[in-house]
Amino acid sequence: MKIRNNHGEFETRAIHAGQTSDPQNGAVMTPVYLTSTFEQDAPAQPRDGYEYSRTKNPTRLALEENLAALEGGQWGLCFASGLGATNALLDSLVPGDHVVAGNDLYGGTHRIFRQVFERYGIRFSFVDTTEARHVEAAIEKDTKLVYIESPSNPLLRVSDIEAISRVAKARSKLLVVDNTFASPYLQNPLAMGADVVLHSLTKYLGGHSDVVAGALVGNDPALFESYAFFQNSCGGSLDPMSSFLVLRGTKTLALRMQRHCENAMAIARFLEDQPQVARVHYPGLESFPQHELAKSQMRSFGGMVSFELKGGVAAGEACASATRYFCLAESLGGVESLIETPPSMTHAAIPAAERHAAGLEDGLVRLSVGVEHIDDLIGDLKVALLKAAQVSEQTADA
Ligand SMILES: *Cc1c(COP(=O)(O)O)cnc(C)c1O
Repeated sequence: MKIRNNHGEFETRAIHAGQTSDPQNGAVMTPVYLTSTFEQDAPAQPRDGYEYSRTKNPTRLALEENLAALEGGQWGLCFASGLGATNALLDSLVPGDHVVAGNDLYGGTHRIFRQVFERYGIRFSFVDTTEARHVEAAIEKDTKLVYIESPSNPLLRVSDIEAISRVAKARSKLLVVDNTFASPYLQNPLAMGADVVLHSLTKYLGGHSDVVAGALVGNDPALFESYAFFQNSCGGSLDPMSSFLVLRGTKTLALRMQRHCENAMAIARFLEDQPQVARVHYPGLESFPQHELAKSQMRSFGGMVSFELKGGVAAGEACASATRYFCLAESLGGVESLIETPPSMTHAAIPAAERHAAGLEDGLVRLSVGVEHIDDLIGDLKVALLKAAQVSEQTADA
């Protein structure tokens, strides 16, 4: 499992790791190997292990090595989506096994846990992972995985990865960290004791909102064998064209993340000064409850910002409908800015009482801050906040 060209700092590895020029013609970029099968030298003698593209494909392998290098792992495996990666992770569990999971996870992760794997007899406990002791208290004899997200969605809550990894290790449990929101440029959970890192490559790693893909990265060769078995046996492998697109995305990850972080910080500070805004959630703000923890485990604070408007759902929806550059859409992590209202969009499936109990208020608006010019983005939000204020006044008058 040697990673080719795995040298240098992050920015350098992003461009070179896993990639070599083509031995036949010197093509500098990894070709898209659109082939389902590979010629063998003799019966049952594939060249370099290439037999069939579900099992192994050169374009996907280049991406898998690249991602492993970016997360500081020994291996990577790529899947048809982030949820495809989660699926492969859970395929190794058997009835009676137990998972301790964060209570503030991506909605699709919650859905695959409760609506797919619970039917197979896997049990899940959902706890607030911002305190490692809650994780500790939920671990049982049959617990196989601890599964967390940090920062979380949409409130950007931060969990102490090192503390949770100590708790998991003390009881010989695997720690899985969904690192989608931070990206490997900002945070490397394996270095903090996690066993497996999961990514939705659809977000920052792809970075251009043009591909759906996922990955697992880790160090333990036995885990690699297990997940590679399920990747091949269950068929969720990533195709060569998508692998190529993500590989193109990772090359500029560092540059993009720097701008995402700068823009998000400026927007968070701007929002904090606006009278219509009740609260801003951004780990980079001194007012963020876990600012110090975020500072200690992240290189910078990311491109996601959420804020609570005083006028409730109506104000949030008015704001999200009035922007010109922030596109009204779910998802995140692309170069373009997106805006959405979690209570009526990404988190609508959670009953209102449960949402409020989790601190997810009606006026919440979530931004995926892109890499456009900051003046345009702030100008856009100024107009949208005025619209939101008008709607709140009308609601108050009525
Ligand atoms: C989008 C997302 C996923 C799921 O990934 P897909 O590529 O959409 O399947 C998982 N976790 C987080 C944090 C996400 O944002």
